[in-house]
Amino acid sequence: MAILGEAIIAPRVSEKAAQFTESVIREMTRQAVQYGAVNLAQGFPDFPAPERIKRAAQQAIADDVNQYAITWGAKDFRRAVADKFAQRQGIEIDPEREITVCCGSTEAMIATQLALVDPGDEVIVFEPFYENYGPDAILSGATPRYVTLYPPQQEDGEWRFNADELRAAFNKKTRAILLNTPHNPTGKVFTCTELEQIRDLCVEFDTLAITDEIYEHILYDEAEHIAPVTIDGMRERTVTINSLSKSYSVTGWRVGWAIAPPELTAAIRKVHDFLTVGAAAPLQAAGAVALALPESYYQQLAEKYAERRDLLLAALRKADFTAYKPQGAYYIMTNIATFGFADDRKFAEHLVREVGVAAVPGSSFYRDPKRGAQQVRFAFCKRVETLQQAIAKLGTINYASFNASAER
Ligand code: PLP
Repeated sequence: MAILGEAIIAPRVSEKAAQFTESVIREMTRQAVQYGAVNLAQGFPDFPAPERIKRAAQQAIADDVNQYAITWGAKDFRRAVADKFAQRQGIEIDPEREITVCCGSTEAMIATQLALVDPGDEVIVFEPFYENYGPDAILSGATPRYVTLYPPQQEDGEWRFNADELRAAFNKKTRAILLNTPHNPTGKVFTCTELEQIRDLCVEFDTLAITDEIYEHILYDEAEHIAPVTIDGMRERTVTINSLSKSYSVTGWRVGWAIAPPELTAAIRKVHDFLTVGAAAPLQAAGAVALALPESYYQQLAEKYAERRDLLLAALRKADFTAYKPQGAYYIMTNIATFGFADDRKFAEHLVREVGVAAVPGSSFYRDPKRGAQQVRFAFCKRVETLQQAIAKLGTINYASFNASAER
């Protein structure tokens, strides 16, 4: 509380900011540091980014690419985004009118919603969801409508939504549906049939799809990433969001983008300009090099993650978690019912303090914390040695101490 002369000024925050809490994921990272635990909470790699793109960033700074880029993105970088999109998705986009480069997909998502959604509009979100989507809806004034993704009966099965529940979530106020595929936290990769069901509803209710495809290259087994924009009838109503963060292991660079038809892009660009002006210019220059990496780079990325997924999955199952096998992204969602905790937060606190492994309480992916109270998420975007350390610690889980802690 600030004291000015005699008057005591009570701190006041906006109604919007008061409606959401600090990020639980980043809070768990702080706890990992505090207790010296292995951090399997936040989704950032602890291994180096590719040499080639680091050198490109150093070179760009040495070449004095150090001033503001064009607010909606450096020309070369937008060209590289358009080329990669044409090559992978078979869709030609105009980099002059259909791309906005932002500070990560995080900014692309909030700029898109601020630009295209009005207070009173509804936005459909699959639940569990990446925790930023809740505050994004509040900041843009939209009312989120949640559609449940149900865990599979078998650990190796797929998370699914119920088609009737999805339909029931649509109405004339529905402005957009958020589509995160591959999905954090469940690892679900939306199938063509599911995307077609969603397309039918988007067309019927004249709804936009705002996608988050930042894990597009991190896929396992037979999973195939289908960009929603490629589904017939979706080109004009899709905002495709992506970023460098996960595909090139550079989460700290903060370079992402939104691809959308020209009229939508014009609005997104205006909001983006006044929010952040632009993403880091030298890192956009290096990003153009990253986007031109050969196919073999992505294959290796996916193979390395598959190895890590299998390692952690086996260890979690051995430690008596119900661990759902992800088809994409780099997280494992687990059910912790075996441990007898009433609350995922207490479980995660115990895990970080006593076992030495940080994970994210499942409730942070649900609007109603009770729905995630038996779930915890582990990230495996870490060096194999880091995972081995975590696995050794998970092997020491002491059920007696767990149960004692659960009773407290
Ligand atoms: N979207 C999802 C689904 C994520 O999991 C994350 C980070 O973990 C982000 C967005 C943030 O991405 P960026 O670094 O591009 O802002």
